[in-house]
Amino acid sequence: MALGGNREQEGQVSRTSGQKSRDEHGPISASAADVFLSYDAIVDRLEDAARQLPGASVLHREGLAILEVRPASASNVNDGRPVVWLQGGVHACEWIGPAVVLRLMDELIRNSGLRGRATWYLLPVVDADGYRRTWAGERFLRTTEHGENPNLNFPYRWGDAPRLLRRLLGGRLRGWMGPHPASAGCVKSLVSELKTLTNLQLFLDFHGFGRLWLYPWCHSRAPSPHHAEHTAASATAVAAANRLAGRPGYRAQAAAFTEVPMGGSCLDFVYGELGCVHSYAVELPPSLPRGGVSGATLLGALRGDPKRWWREGQAPSADVGVEAGNEMAAAVSALVDHLFGGAPPAIT
Ligand SMILES: [Zn+2]
Repeated sequence: MALGGNREQEGQVSRTSGQKSRDEHGPISASAADVFLSYDAIVDRLEDAARQLPGASVLHREGLAILEVRPASASNVNDGRPVVWLQGGVHACEWIGPAVVLRLMDELIRNSGLRGRATWYLLPVVDADGYRRTWAGERFLRTTEHGENPNLNFPYRWGDAPRLLRRLLGGRLRGWMGPHPASAGCVKSLVSELKTLTNLQLFLDFHGFGRLWLYPWCHSRAPSPHHAEHTAASATAVAAANRLAGRPGYRAQAAAFTEVPMGGSCLDFVYGELGCVHSYAVELPPSLPRGGVSGATLLGALRGDPKRWWREGQAPSADVGVEAGNEMAAAVSALVDHLFGGAPPAIT
């Protein structure tokens, strides 16, 4: 959920996708071509899943391709199951997000027990236009076609930012926020789609990177009215992911503590405006640099490339993408048990 826009294209990451970064390990040996997919290949995967699952379909809504998975018998009638929304690709260059959403889709195909616990919506790529551009040479783009940072553009506490930051960034910050809430086409489409949902009970927004599980608020460091629920659910998800990873890599915190408190985030919109208590953003692997962001930037600057750590983090290996998907499958399964408890309704 990094703050600014970024249009860096030069200085490609020297590590190729087949190699592992220093802090990653494991027996997986995945191919980048199987894990990180072009936009058209992602939509093909959704269509394939819809053909495999009775009751599933791909909704094409104003630039968004969304897989809807509901029990076949439920048709369009709300049968009381909670709604779960999983999305990635709010920031175009964060390729690990769509990869993880597709891995969760595979989990739903494989695991009918989990599938039957909810009506699921999977949106692997929010900013489809930006994502296409990252595949056409602008690999590290993280703003929309009109320069908005989508995660500052949602219609909840839009424009909130610390005064000092406003003074330092001025017009650049206003450009990232956009001229008005939901000015970015993908944000407008997503907002109107989310508003049609009834019974939305869990919302997960996957980003890269930092291994952080973030809960509301993003616009303020004050505890949310559901602080206890947020910390308990986050602890459950983080414990499940770390158990699978075999190390304490992920940690949870309020989103506002990641950088500075900012309004207009998707996370706060879903919680504050739509009233879905369990609204989280997940910064996927890799972890942030050991010496911290400012240390890594300073070290990079001394070597003539202050943002190298950031580009490397946005281009993890395929193995890291697969591990992250497995860890999030464990986290989502644990969260569903934690939130929806009891015996799952029978699936047909
Ligand atoms: Zn992001």
